[in-house]
Amino acid sequence: MSHVTEIFGSKVFNASVMKERLPEDIYELMQRAIKNNKRLDIDVANVVANSMKDWAIENGATHYTHWFQPMTGVTAEKHDSFISPSGDCEVIMEFSGKELVQGESDASSFPSGGLRATFEARGYTAWDPTSYAFIKDKTLCIPTAFCSYGGEALDQKTPLLRSMEAIDRQAVRILKLFGHENVTSVKTTVGPEQEYFLVEKDTYDMRPDLIFAGRTLFGAKPPKGQELDDHYYGSIKPRVMSFMHDLDEELWKLGILAKTEHNEAAPAQHELAPIYTTTNIAADHNQLTMEMMQKVAQRHDLVCLLHEKPFKGVNGSGKHNNWSLSTNTGKNLLDPGETPHENAQFLLFLCSVIKAVDDYQELLRASVASPGNDHRLGAHEAPPAVVSIFLGEELSEILESIEQDKEYDGREKTQIKIGVHVIPKFPKDTTDRNRTSPFAFTGNKFEFRMLGSAASISDVNVVLNTVVAESLRQFADELEGASDFESALHDLIKETIKKHKRIIFNGNGYDDKWIKEAEGRGLLNLKTTPDALPHITEKKSVELFETHKVYSEIELKSRLAVLLENYIKVLKIEARTMIEMSRKDIMPAVSQFVGTVSETLNAKRSALKNVSCGYEKGIIEKASALLDVMCEKTSDLEASLSAAKKIADTQEKANYYRDIIIPLMEELRAAADELEVICDRAIWPYPDYTEMLFGVK
Ligand code: ADP
Ligand code: MG
Repeated sequence: MSHVTEIFGSKVFNASVMKERLPEDIYELMQRAIKNNKRLDIDVANVVANSMKDWAIENGATHYTHWFQPMTGVTAEKHDSFISPSGDCEVIMEFSGKELVQGESDASSFPSGGLRATFEARGYTAWDPTSYAFIKDKTLCIPTAFCSYGGEALDQKTPLLRSMEAIDRQAVRILKLFGHENVTSVKTTVGPEQEYFLVEKDTYDMRPDLIFAGRTLFGAKPPKGQELDDHYYGSIKPRVMSFMHDLDEELWKLGILAKTEHNEAAPAQHELAPIYTTTNIAADHNQLTMEMMQKVAQRHDLVCLLHEKPFKGVNGSGKHNNWSLSTNTGKNLLDPGETPHENAQFLLFLCSVIKAVDDYQELLRASVASPGNDHRLGAHEAPPAVVSIFLGEELSEILESIEQDKEYDGREKTQIKIGVHVIPKFPKDTTDRNRTSPFAFTGNKFEFRMLGSAASISDVNVVLNTVVAESLRQFADELEGASDFESALHDLIKETIKKHKRIIFNGNGYDDKWIKEAEGRGLLNLKTTPDALPHITEKKSVELFETHKVYSEIELKSRLAVLLENYIKVLKIEARTMIEMSRKDIMPAVSQFVGTVSETLNAKRSALKNVSCGYEKGIIEKASALLDVMCEKTSDLEASLSAAKKIADTQEKANYYRDIIIPLMEELRAAADELEVICDRAIWPYPDYTEMLFGVK
């Protein structure tokens, strides 16, 4: 056995461990519960819990925790040890079925967006048996959902599981119509490609902005950025290589299918892609991946930055959400297939996505909204804030010929009639690599590229699953009632293309012309988080989510509140950090520098009569003027932060941060960055962009 196959999943209580350790009947019951998402009887849970505990202890664990993802976007855990008193000053290690299946947690320390006021402060965590338990830091971690006592979701997993059920229900209905009686369940699959930056720990420790905000709030562009394109797929530096190896090992132990590691476009930027898996597991794994990236980096005296835009003027980081649908019989529903029958089915699922993305652009945009991601979207480096779909030329032509009932003029001339003709094969490389599209079809899956690097993948997949479930629901309603399935199918596909083709765009998404054209097509351009978020509580959204039992209106309102509050909090921290850096470090350093130069000027003048002192005079003048700007903007920022406190309405406050605070932060930064360029390197209080971006050897 190779080292890798030996360590893979060694810290996971997975199917093979269960098979080995559980009595046969219990194992079967457990498998069935996993497959059908059913609760385990307490007797069965007791046996599973005990076996889990023995396995965990043998593998070094002393504690257990319900591991969950509150609305903060990061994971939470509360450790309990297995110990239980037995007799005189003795303990035994215990873990009951009840403790495995359900835990209590004080919900009041997590954001609830107002749910807390209406409901009890207590929350409970409930085991998600489809995502295996694992050991981390000597603790048995049990993936769980987190709800209020009234059953309202307080986390990211609960709605995700509900949305998976919703799309499962509707997709199975469609597949029945195509005669797939053997398909009993459809699950969505996701492979999230994760981008990140690595900087030296020593450098990081000297930058309050990196420490408090995860991104640089000041910093002038280095002479060399990414213009030479020499970093992308470039050879990996030894320290980074050893970090990646170490990270892979840690992830493999946790059963995470880390597959590809490479450099990204920007200096110091890298990417990790796992092999795709079922969505809820992919979401858990991505949270663990982000955590491990940070931990392993520390071990290598590095810091991993997951922020969407750590460096101005340098590409930010995203997370490409590769998404598809897979049946329990192992068929990928977004794979065009080989036969006419498969082709027709593929086209219907393809159309369900096209319709969903067009109908609910605003929800997809809102699902990626965060203050960090606002720096990326629309900044000519990441997909624009306008949602559109890239299908590639070939597939677009096929759809066009269906819509217009004309011959398809591909490599083989064929009349496209759904269900009758085979779609001409489109080679994978033509469905290609339009990197500027927010939502690209890449041969057998869709790649949603607007998601930010720091975010959980849950929200986007909740929306994706639900909006596609809604398309499929409407399709199934129509087709189930049809007398002639084949022609009803043809008409439905044709109509869908006609109605929703405005969302398809194969050109350059970074082009300003596209943004204009998109407006003409009636597509939404929601530039910032406060623009996008309110859409989640619109009537249309509430109806959608309630129809599919994914969110209630109360839950949606609570999400909106949490997300808006988060926007405000993040910006407040950033603004305060800037004020502190400006007052305590940058302004005093520059002032002192101007003093030193002034002394030099005076000394030169007294030494020589007609000396011009061009450098000194220029610097004193320019630096003093910029220092005044910094001083003024710092005070303005402080005053505006105070003014913001008085705004009671959360949306209004978020808008104020967007319209008043952010521009002030940018003005303050501009003055400081200009100063950084003209001042003596030695007096600058922080490591510069060159050190941060090119410092890791
Ligand atoms: P790239 O985008 O770099 O060309 P790939 O297309 O091979 O790379 O895959 C990118 C990601 O998409 C990987 O994480 C991969 O596992 C994932 N992926 C591939 N097929 C599917 C699928 N059917 N469902 C979800 N994700 C998938
Ligand atoms: Mg990709």
